[in-house]
Amino acid sequence: LIEVTSLKKGFGNLNVLTDVNFEVEKGDVIAVIGPSGAGKSTMLRCLINLEKVDGGTITVEGESFVKDGVYASHEQIKAVTRKMGMVFQNFNLFPHLSVRRNLTIAPTAVFGKSKEESDALCESLLDKVGLRDKIDAMPSTLSGGQKQRVAIARALMLNPDIMLFDEPTSALDPQLTSEVLGVMRALAADHMTMIVVTHEMSFAREVANKILFMCDGMIVESGTPAQVFGQPKDRRTADFFHNIL
Ligand code: ATP
Ligand code: MG
Repeated sequence: LIEVTSLKKGFGNLNVLTDVNFEVEKGDVIAVIGPSGAGKSTMLRCLINLEKVDGGTITVEGESFVKDGVYASHEQIKAVTRKMGMVFQNFNLFPHLSVRRNLTIAPTAVFGKSKEESDALCESLLDKVGLRDKIDAMPSTLSGGQKQRVAIARALMLNPDIMLFDEPTSALDPQLTSEVLGVMRALAADHMTMIVVTHEMSFAREVANKILFMCDGMIVESGTPAQVFGQPKDRRTADFFHNIL
């Protein structure tokens, strides 16, 4: 479903992604783990074209929007990146818009969907994340866990085939974390393809079918949770677990 090859990205003379390679299959729930500064967020941002890569190829459902470091047309980039929805650590809700408008503004204003259709989808997705009663609330009146669930519903409004999450619970205390992880588990059970950058090792172990361990701008190890957690092959993976446990 997604194929990333030889991805490279630097900021000035700092090489953040040196050579990132991985594949995602339909229905995969992939947990990306690794030390701070490894390039995990940068890698996700490159996937949805929030950062420009310096080299490499990103292919989604057979279509590349960057090939050997050369970008396709604006339309092609849009068409490919639209297949992915992203949820950020700090929610990124529009603070001046109600929950309903946060969800419906992109579908109506950008993608030309009707108000009726968007409202109906908005209501059903808020039901799904347990926040139907907050439809007219402003973001500032919501808890962090509620904000993040709104952010997940908002990403789902555009009907993505793949959901990307960048540490969706790291700004939340444990109670609110479990609400958000519950919604993510439900998505996984619905066979949503997901790439989740996370420090939640129990989530990675229980929900992901594949772990990517990222370090020094590369995926240095990948495998099932049992392989990566149980028998890490790379010294850096073993050191990482040693330091966090
Ligand atoms: P964390 O676990 O702390 O979130 P990460 O693996 O997500 O870390 P990134 O945020 O991808 O790491 O950052 C990787 C490196 O790239 C860091 O050294 C960071 O300072 C640098 N970096 C990220 N974004 C930029 C930017 N816009 N300009 C300059 N340097 C950047
Ligand atoms: Mg990060």
